[in-house]
Amino acid sequence: MEKAVKRIGILTSGGDAPGMNAAVRAVVRTAISQGVECVGIRRGYHGLINGDFVKLEASSVSHIIHKGGTMLYTARSQEFTTPEGREKALATCRLLGLDGIVTIGGDGTFRGALALSRQAAEHGHQLQVVGIPATIDNDIGCSHYTLGFDTACNTAIECIDKLRDTMQSHERCSVVEVMGRHAGYLALCVGLAVGATAVLIPEREFDFENDVVEPIRKARLSGVTHFMVVVAEGVGSAVEIADRIEKEMGIDPRVTVLGHIQRGGTPSSRDRETASRMGYAAVESLVEGLGNRVIATQEGSVVNLDMEEALAMTKEFPYDRYDVLEALSRH
Ligand code: ATP
Repeated sequence: MEKAVKRIGILTSGGDAPGMNAAVRAVVRTAISQGVECVGIRRGYHGLINGDFVKLEASSVSHIIHKGGTMLYTARSQEFTTPEGREKALATCRLLGLDGIVTIGGDGTFRGALALSRQAAEHGHQLQVVGIPATIDNDIGCSHYTLGFDTACNTAIECIDKLRDTMQSHERCSVVEVMGRHAGYLALCVGLAVGATAVLIPEREFDFENDVVEPIRKARLSGVTHFMVVVAEGVGSAVEIADRIEKEMGIDPRVTVLGHIQRGGTPSSRDRETASRMGYAAVESLVEGLGNRVIATQEGSVVNLDMEEALAMTKEFPYDRYDVLEALSRH
């Protein structure tokens, strides 16, 4: 059967996430096994505009499955958001003879891919795009899981476990700011896994007295002398929360902002495995002529969704985990 694509591009875009390399590897190896050529585009859409590419063979992606970051580099490109910028990107696609592109990134990356594919179609150029969701924030509506989330959780947990040792020795309160941009998935999952005294997330309006002061008080009354407060970055500054704790409770918390350390590290088994399945499914989709798709996960299965519909989807925040946290931490 004739393949719907002959040569595809692959790029990583937006914030990096552990598992991106495993996804690149899966795309390249699947494409080659299907007789489809692969071209890596470096630095996301910026590279597509500037013709920054590298021909990828099966051996080009050896020994990267276990590495954080992305061998293709990643970037954001303001120029690509304009029709003129995308025209330059399309010129690169025409020059290289690309008839499909796999984009690995967040929903901004998918919006860009869709805009590119539509602009190509206006000129009678068929350019099929497929997106693979990758962000440690896990904030993409169409996919229950996004690459990098599990590794970022594990990294944050490891850091907090270490902090706990010293907080326990000094009988202190620790306020830890966890990444996630506007979303609290990472903070909630991490807070639950470290047995935090309190967790503040943007999805749930908080009452300082009820949600911070009272849990610390209850813990103290039951004999605990160190406390762990996890703050999602979307809630605001951990320093401000710590100042408030000091002012209202007379204790002197120590603040730790975990920051970009959460974006690096060896991808977990979940991230490697999901990336491999998603990369495989992305190429299968292109080979079958199914373009403008997002490869997502739903209920643990890898699914292939229409990109426009996927971009309009929202997912339910797991508030039930907050109930669990409350039940376990307020004693
Ligand atoms: P992250 O979740 O890590 O931020 P993202 O993919 O959402 O990842 P963005 O910076 O939003 O990151 O998008 C990546 C790139 O996609 C942008 O720099 C821009 O070039 C392109 N892009 C985003 N939105 C659009 C759009 N509406 N039209 C065209 N291109 C877009």
